[in-house]
Amino acid sequence: MPSRLRLALQKKGRLAQDSIALLERCGLQFHVKESALLTHVNNFPIDLLFVRDDDIPTLVFDGLCDGGIIGTNVLLEASLRFPDKKYQSILTLDNAHCRLVIAVPEGMNYKGPSSLEGKRIATSYPLLLTEYLKKQHVSAPTLILSGSVEVAPRMGMADAICDLVSSGQTLEENKLIPVETVLESQASLIRGEHAITPEQHDLFDMLARRISAVQHAAKRKYIAFHAPKSALKEICEQLPGVESPTVLPLPGDPDKVVVHVVSTEGVFWKTLETIQSLGASSILILPIEKILE
Ligand code: ATP
Ligand code: ZN
Repeated sequence: MPSRLRLALQKKGRLAQDSIALLERCGLQFHVKESALLTHVNNFPIDLLFVRDDDIPTLVFDGLCDGGIIGTNVLLEASLRFPDKKYQSILTLDNAHCRLVIAVPEGMNYKGPSSLEGKRIATSYPLLLTEYLKKQHVSAPTLILSGSVEVAPRMGMADAICDLVSSGQTLEENKLIPVETVLESQASLIRGEHAITPEQHDLFDMLARRISAVQHAAKRKYIAFHAPKSALKEICEQLPGVESPTVLPLPGDPDKVVVHVVSTEGVFWKTLETIQSLGASSILILPIEKILE
C-alpha cells in the first residue's frame, strides 16, 4: 500500500478557510470535522493534518508532514530559527496577504530606521526583525511577545512594535503609525526536502497544476453581451485584457452581434457603464472556475 501524502494546514484562523476552500476547488473531496486532527481526502491518497500555523514549518522541516500551507512570515521566521532545515516553496497562493511592519507611536519624531537606535521593539517575529535591523545597521533590543504586541507601547513595555498588518485598523486603534516594511507576506504551499515516493511527487505536481489553474481563473471574468456591429471594435477596446472575443450572430437582429470574451483584469462598474453607453446591452459577467491552457 503506497503511503499517503500528508499536508499540514492551519486548524483555525486567517489561513484556515482559504486553504480548505482552495483544496476543495482543486477537486479534493474531504469533510472536516471540528474535533478531528487528521482528515482523509476521499478521492486522493492525501491526508490533511490540522494544527496551529506556528507548528507547520517544523512539521514539514522534520518530515512529519510532506508539505503544508503557511504564511511567508511564519515560514521565514522558522527558517531563520532552524537555518540547517531545508524546504521547497512550490508556489505562492493569492491569500493571507499582509505586511510585517515596524510601527511607532503617533507622537514620535520618526526620521528613518536610525530613529529606532536603542529603542525597545515588541514583536512575535524577533529573528526577522533582528535581520532587518542588522541590514539597517541599527541596534535595538527586542521584546518577544506571542500576542497583543500592539498594546506594548501603551503599556510602557516598548517604544515601537514590529507586527503584521493588513488593513492597518488595529494600528490606528492603538495610535501607531507604520514606518517600515520588514516583509510582504502571503500564503505558500511548501514541501519538505525528505525523500518521497514518485506517486507522492506526482500528487504535488497535480496540486501545483490545479492550484495555478484555480488562481489563474480567479482573476478572470467571462463577459457576454449584445453589441451593435458598428460599435464592436470600440466596445472591445474598453474591456481590460480582452483576448480574441467570440462574435456570434444575434438571431432576429442583423445589426447586432453576441460577444463572449474573457477579461484578464477583472471588470469595474465604470467600464461596464462605458460599454453600455456605446450600445452594449444584456451584459452578463460570470466568474470563471478553472482555466486550463
Ligand atoms: P494559530 O492559532 O494557528 O497560531 P494565529 O493567531 O497565529 O493562529 P492568524 O491570526 O490566524 O494566526 O494568522 C495566520 C496568518 O494569516 C498569519 O501568520 C499571516 O500569514 C496571515 N495574516 C493575514 N493578515 C493578517 C493580519 N492582519 N494579522 C495577522 N496575520 C495575518
Ligand atoms: Zn500562530
